[in-house]
Amino acid sequence: MKHLLIVNGLEAPLLRQFGCDCDRCTDPAPQANTSVSLISLNGTGETTHHVLFDVGAAVTDSLSRLPYLAGRSARLDWVALTHWHPDHVNDLNRLIVSYHLNRIRRDEEPTPVPLWCRSGTAGWLQAEHSYEWHNFLQPHVSGENHPPGTVLPPLPVNLPGVTITPVTVSHFGADRCAQDKTQICYSCAAFVIETGASKTVLLWDIDTENEWLVDPQTPEQETAVTLLSNADYLFVDTAFWKIPEKRMTHPGFHNVQRYARALTPQETLLVHLSGHPDGRGNPGWGWPNDRWQAEAQMVWAQRKLPGLVCVPAVGDVFEIG
Ligand SMILES: [Zn+2]
Ligand SMILES: [Zn+2]
Repeated sequence: MKHLLIVNGLEAPLLRQFGCDCDRCTDPAPQANTSVSLISLNGTGETTHHVLFDVGAAVTDSLSRLPYLAGRSARLDWVALTHWHPDHVNDLNRLIVSYHLNRIRRDEEPTPVPLWCRSGTAGWLQAEHSYEWHNFLQPHVSGENHPPGTVLPPLPVNLPGVTITPVTVSHFGADRCAQDKTQICYSCAAFVIETGASKTVLLWDIDTENEWLVDPQTPEQETAVTLLSNADYLFVDTAFWKIPEKRMTHPGFHNVQRYARALTPQETLLVHLSGHPDGRGNPGWGWPNDRWQAEAQMVWAQRKLPGLVCVPAVGDVFEIG
């Protein structure tokens, strides 16, 4: 069996912005919100399993372009959600309902799709996506409200040789209870995908408060940092080039450099990019992905940061096992 990690999207919330004429918004390359797929192939190259991590805007379009999921190869065995924010769930209706209808047309049993999320996120999905939640999904909810830097039990995905382990992270914009927004419900998870051959870390969305990544304070945080360290691939939220000098709900590239120095991945992949929040006229404004990559690689070389840094493209394939 072969396991591929495929990039479905790497955009921050708004994708190409209506009315904007910056270089990023006028770039014709496909865009979608940050998402990857773990696709498993058998010895004859058939797709036998598909775990989708996040399902924001245009992710269904990215999946529809993949040869591994074309026509009758289309399958969706699990959805794993980092959290409930719209840019991570707002293609859920389109994807789940169209998949359901296509299974009926093919005379297949349209069983609900298993979905893993944290309890905080489950509360929001029940409130805002109750139609999909009750009709098309089979929820697996973490049943906890652990603080950031806690390793949770692996997802019950039946995929021999592959372990998918969630780690709690702080993302304060999402860490509120749906029923009582004054209460803290930690809602966001990173994922560590381990095969016999490699380790991949999906570290989005995170805020600038995750100092435990560079300076763990408790035994739980030390365990979490050990699990997140020395990955072959670290996909990391890089919503800003510069801005965060105070508490922000996303990190900037200078935070990412510190995480990379602490976690020492072989390759750091910048995702959740935007091009707008740094502000017009500032570095980062309107940068397309190739510019982000060139600027990041210059800094990486100057500061002798570990491994490589790059910005992936939609459709990039990483053979991880
Ligand atoms: Zn723009
Ligand atoms: Zn996001």
